[in-house]
Amino acid sequence: MGRLFAVEIVYRGIFQKTLAKNISRGIVLAANMEGKPGTSFGRYGDSPERNGIPAKYFAIVATDDLTLEEGMAKYEPKEVDVTVCVDDTLCKGLESWAWYGLQPINKLTMPGGTLLITSKEPAENLIPMIHQKHEPYKLAMIKGTPSFSGLWVYKDDHTDVRILGAIAKLLPDLFSLETVKNFILHEWKDTVKAQSAQRAYERVSTVTVPAGKGNPEKPFAFELPKWHEMRDGVAIPCIPPGKGIQDPATHAAGGFRPARNPTFKKWSTRTMRPVVDFDICIKCTLCWLQCPDSCFDVTPEGLYDANMEACCGCGVCEAVCPVKECVTMVNEVSFKGNDSQWEAWRKDKGGYKNWVKETISNRPERSHGYRYRGQYEEQTPEMLEIARQG
Ligand code: SF4
Ligand code: SF4
Repeated sequence: MGRLFAVEIVYRGIFQKTLAKNISRGIVLAANMEGKPGTSFGRYGDSPERNGIPAKYFAIVATDDLTLEEGMAKYEPKEVDVTVCVDDTLCKGLESWAWYGLQPINKLTMPGGTLLITSKEPAENLIPMIHQKHEPYKLAMIKGTPSFSGLWVYKDDHTDVRILGAIAKLLPDLFSLETVKNFILHEWKDTVKAQSAQRAYERVSTVTVPAGKGNPEKPFAFELPKWHEMRDGVAIPCIPPGKGIQDPATHAAGGFRPARNPTFKKWSTRTMRPVVDFDICIKCTLCWLQCPDSCFDVTPEGLYDANMEACCGCGVCEAVCPVKECVTMVNEVSFKGNDSQWEAWRKDKGGYKNWVKETISNRPERSHGYRYRGQYEEQTPEMLEIARQG
């Protein structure tokens, strides 16, 4: 019996699809140059692959055909040698259309296996977000801003080859660095890309995360209906109308909270979230009207509180708000919980104002695709510089 290797690539649907495909395909083709057969396939990535929804590619490689066949007899691997995460906000967990509840980013990472993340954050900032495991695993990091582009544009900032170079270091039995570089030269005919792979190989940093360290939260889950509880035909229960919300000051009902899907939460689908400055809101209702996910709870005083169970982080509310810095999208990594901003504002208006000021002061670019002409030319050299400097 030969050796089977499994790598999963966890990515944001649409924005990182080509990136994930390049990595997965690159793993299989590089391993093949060393005579190992393999296959690469996407999961949860076909329609509806909604913008930002987490999805996966898998690369399965074996030392011989029979072992590969045996490995492929499963729908997908139960555990993987390496989990690649190309957006650090996915450290909080992921919820796709295709499975139920929140899945920790390291769920399939085997005991002693590696979670490889591209991030500018240090490991100690990411570990508290990542769900703890019963067995130790390794956390490997390569420095970089998450690489987003679009369905039709590919941002060639070398994230793909940097991941391949890092995998050569983390899983040397899969393929060598020399093989990765040969594959890159064959595929892209680009010596600079081969150098980026080499630098990632040299500079990938690894720490061991002991058992029980990390986010202790029990991931959101719910009971699936039993076969005998299912209704005839295709029946999708509708969402009932919403109702008033409790005013914490008077305990009277006021405002309005739309009812929401009780099982599909959107905590992990967003990479940014809106921060609302209630003191300068002019109650124009535009955010509430335009939000595609009906996220806004209308508060008893007629303000609009973006509910973090429902927000997918699209940024429409920021775009339509007519008041400068009343709604500001901020990188999801900056937040620990999902509590109501309005309730925080109600409790301590001065403290909330300071929090808003501080939170929106540091907001590196997080746009998913491209919002203006020339953004590709602006961002790609910065990423290439990170690849060069490590
Ligand atoms: S970012 Fe704003 S508009 Fe988009 S889903 Fe969230 S609250 Fe709604
Ligand atoms: S769009 Fe801005 S000003 Fe208008 S209600 Fe929403 S937060 Fe307030």
